[in-house]
Amino acid sequence: MRDAAGVRRSLLAWYRRNRRSMPWRETSDPYRIWVSEVMLQQTQVATATPYYERFVARFPDVEALARADRGGVLALWSGLGYYQRARHLHEAAGIVVREHGGRVPSDPRAFAALPGVGRYTLGAVLSMGFGLPWPVLDGNVARVLARLMAQPLAVKRPVDARQLWALAEGLLPRARGGPGGSGGPGEWNQALMELGALVCTPRAPRCEICPLRTHCRARALGVQDSLPPVVARRSPMRVRRAVACVRHRGRLLVVKREGAHLNGLWEPPGVELERGEDAGAALAERLKPLGVRARLVDSGARDRHTITHHDITVEVWEGKLREPAPRAGARHRWVAAAGRSIGLTALGARLARRAKAGSKPAKARARETLSRRASPRA
Ligand code: SF4
Repeated sequence: MRDAAGVRRSLLAWYRRNRRSMPWRETSDPYRIWVSEVMLQQTQVATATPYYERFVARFPDVEALARADRGGVLALWSGLGYYQRARHLHEAAGIVVREHGGRVPSDPRAFAALPGVGRYTLGAVLSMGFGLPWPVLDGNVARVLARLMAQPLAVKRPVDARQLWALAEGLLPRARGGPGGSGGPGEWNQALMELGALVCTPRAPRCEICPLRTHCRARALGVQDSLPPVVARRSPMRVRRAVACVRHRGRLLVVKREGAHLNGLWEPPGVELERGEDAGAALAERLKPLGVRARLVDSGARDRHTITHHDITVEVWEGKLREPAPRAGARHRWVAAAGRSIGLTALGARLARRAKAGSKPAKARARETLSRRASPRA
C-alpha cells in the first residue's frame, strides 16, 4: 500500500467519530477483552452483549473463572452455542492462575499455548489488551483488505489467508499508541473490523461515505461488489432427531449430552433417527435406562438448527408420565423453565421456555417451527 500512513489516519479519524459503544470497548483489562473476543467468534454483537455482561459480573477476573465449576460456566454460556469455547476458556483460566500468577500473559508464546487461543484471539488480546503490534483477521478485516488492494483473496482459502494476514500485518501501526491505546494496534484492529461491519459490508458496500474511498483500488476499478470471491460452501449434512419433553410439576426432564458437540450440556432426552425410523419407539427406548415410563405423543413442533455443517431437524414429542417421576440422578435432572443453574443447550433452553409458555392448542403447535442458526459477528 503506497500511502499506509494516510490510510491509518483516515480510518482512525472515522472510527473515533463512528465507533459503536460496546461494553468491552470501555475496558483495557486483557481478561475481559479475551472473554469478549471468544464470545464474538461465530456470534453477533447484539447476541453476545448480554452474555458478556452476565459472564463478567459473575466471573469478574481470571481467578473467579478458574475457581468456578464447569457446569456453572456452561450455564452462563447456555444458548450462545459453540460450547467448546467456554470449556477452553475455563481450562485456560485455570492454567493462567497456576502458571502465570493469575495474570493473562502478554508473552505471545505463553498466551498462544492456552487452550482455544488461535491466531485471531492472540492478535485481538495482545493488541487490544496490551497495545502490542499483532494483527487480527476475521471476515470483516479480510473483506476490507481484499477490496482495498483489489485482490481476489478469500479468507477461507488457506493460501489466500496467508496473504491476507501479511497485508494486515503490513498496515498495522507499530507504536503502542497514546493514552488508552489511541492510535495504536488495538484501536487500529478495531477500526478495521468496524469499517467492515458498518461500511464495507458484504453486499452493497457504502463506498460514497467510506473514509478509505480515495485509497481503495477496488472502488477505483469498480470491482468492489465482486470482491472477495465467493468460495463454494460444503453443503451441510441433514440429521433427523427426536426429543421427549417429559414434564413433572412444571419442570422439564433433561439429560447430559455426551460426544463431540455440546458435551456436558443438558437438554431433553433425544435420539438420532435413521431414515424411516419410528421416533416414538426410539424415544421410549431412550427413556428406559432413566427409569422413565411415559406416554409419548408427537406434538408436531419442529426445531431446526445448524451445528458445524449439520443441518438438524428435531421432532418435539410430549411425554406424559405413567409412573411417579424418578428422582434426579447424575445424568438426568428436572429443571425449571428459567433456571440458569445448569448449562442447557440452545435447544434445551428453547424447549424449557416453550414448556413454561404452556400448552398451545394442538393444531397450532403442530405447525410450529422453532428455528435457530448460528451466525458470525457483525
Ligand atoms: S471504498 Fe468501498 S470497497 Fe473500498 S474499502 Fe471503502 S467501502 Fe470498501
